[in-house]
Amino acid sequence: MCNILNDLENSFLIDDALKAKLLKCPDLPSPPGVAIRILEICNDPRADLAKIAEVVSLDPALTTKVLRIANSTCYAGQRKVENLRQAIVIFGLNGTLTLALSFSLVQAHAKRDRTGIDYNAFWRRSLAAASACRQLGKRVGLTNMEDLFLAGLLQDIGMLVFEQAMPETYIGHNILQSDHRALHTYEQATLEADHATVGAWLLARWNLPERWVTAVAASHNPEAALDTEHQTLAHCVAVSSDLADFWWSENPEAALARAAGRAEKWLHIERETLAEVIEAVTQEVEQTAGLFEINLGDTSLMLSLMAQAKELLIERSLHSQLQAESLSLTKLALESRTRDLEEQTRRDGLTGIYNRTHLDAVLDEELHAAVTQGWPLALALIDLDHFKVVNDTYGHLAGDEVLRLAAQLLARCSRNSDTAARFGGEEFVLIMPGTDLQGAQVVCNRLLTAFRETQHKISDEKATVVTISIGLAVQCEATGFSDTEAFIQAADKALYAAKSGGRNRIIVSDEQ
Ligand code: GH3
Ligand code: MG
Ligand code: MG
Repeated sequence: MCNILNDLENSFLIDDALKAKLLKCPDLPSPPGVAIRILEICNDPRADLAKIAEVVSLDPALTTKVLRIANSTCYAGQRKVENLRQAIVIFGLNGTLTLALSFSLVQAHAKRDRTGIDYNAFWRRSLAAASACRQLGKRVGLTNMEDLFLAGLLQDIGMLVFEQAMPETYIGHNILQSDHRALHTYEQATLEADHATVGAWLLARWNLPERWVTAVAASHNPEAALDTEHQTLAHCVAVSSDLADFWWSENPEAALARAAGRAEKWLHIERETLAEVIEAVTQEVEQTAGLFEINLGDTSLMLSLMAQAKELLIERSLHSQLQAESLSLTKLALESRTRDLEEQTRRDGLTGIYNRTHLDAVLDEELHAAVTQGWPLALALIDLDHFKVVNDTYGHLAGDEVLRLAAQLLARCSRNSDTAARFGGEEFVLIMPGTDLQGAQVVCNRLLTAFRETQHKISDEKATVVTISIGLAVQCEATGFSDTEAFIQAADKALYAAKSGGRNRIIVSDEQ
């Protein structure tokens, strides 16, 4: 196995200069700790369910996601899946491994700050491709569904390699992200290797199974995989990329025509079946995006594209309709950009973190999910201490700067699955789904310490420390808050107690 993989790693056509450059990069995407342990289990012939349960359960956020997906309508049976053990029985050994791997990889590579690559757009496209890959494979008789999903999901990971190793690569080329084929051409012209090759090289370095490595390598050149045993998987990955373009590129009609042609040629999938695939993917992506913490924007766009695809593929001749429909589909793509702009309306202008409107929506959704699914949800209300003094002493602009840094501290101390928002003025909120009292106290203590240790620079000579007070309320299975208002009120009351108790502390609400 090891030799094959070494050969694999060396077999990709990356020239030595590029390889040396990649190897020198300290931040090449790497599997997070839990994924490394999962990969070890993958390669261990004695692996059993208990071992996997043990590894997955070390990561509470991952556990919650595996349980949520087991209870989603993609898998759900009659009975609610209540613990990891039951979920693992549903997914099987390989299914659980690949699921856990997908979640942890997306989570680990979902940077918040924007540099060259828009990470949300990157994973949004990858998720659609992963789902499409699974749906295509299902229709051509492949049986390992999670395998298909992961190969589809990781096909563009080479883009993250380029971004880390050559940060200048994609900067200023954001537009390329909405035209995947143009991006590919650009890479070949300027980087002497494409993201498919570099991605495959990376996966081979991670010791991932050969079938995934080959499929990723072939994702932009599927003819190359014609004589390998993993040909069908490679073809599913390649067509899944066309389908992802259908949703997330500026030219959906061309992507659809391409997907239809290649699905027929390589997978013998007819247009009617492709329309079913598109319908299934639309539903699946809508259901699972939240679990991967991917923001889809307005999902009505996907639904509307799905309806148009159906019409083009089934009810009318695709060929004759292409020109006629191109205008309306392009219009939809433009609307998609407008919706990206709408994301900005969810942000607070001063600090860049989520605003009150978005917070209300998230809290509503999370409280509902927590109550119906029986998992914990923590809510922390955080208020800066004596902030008025900062304004009065150093001026309003210095106060604004303190607020900005406070928001950054909040984002830095919380996890990707948490939502941090500005509640108003100098008050912030942290929503922590799947987090019980103990877990939330760890996060809040981390926050308290971070603020105590942070010097807010006022000028070259002056700096000040601003502490915080936190009111914490936790919704758990045994007890429940009737609505978000009661939940916030409980946290607010606890915050008040923290203030009157001397500030710079956490008080936990005793209300349920
Ligand atoms: P406590 O410890 O009791 O919370 O005292 P405090 O001074 O922090 O609380 P108070 O509510 O008395 O004052 C909050 C101050 O926050 C007053 C308000 O002018 C200031 N503030 C609210 N929004 C902003 C803002 O966007 N920028 C700046 N610079 N100040 C703001
Ligand atoms: Mg690609
Ligand atoms: Mg205050």
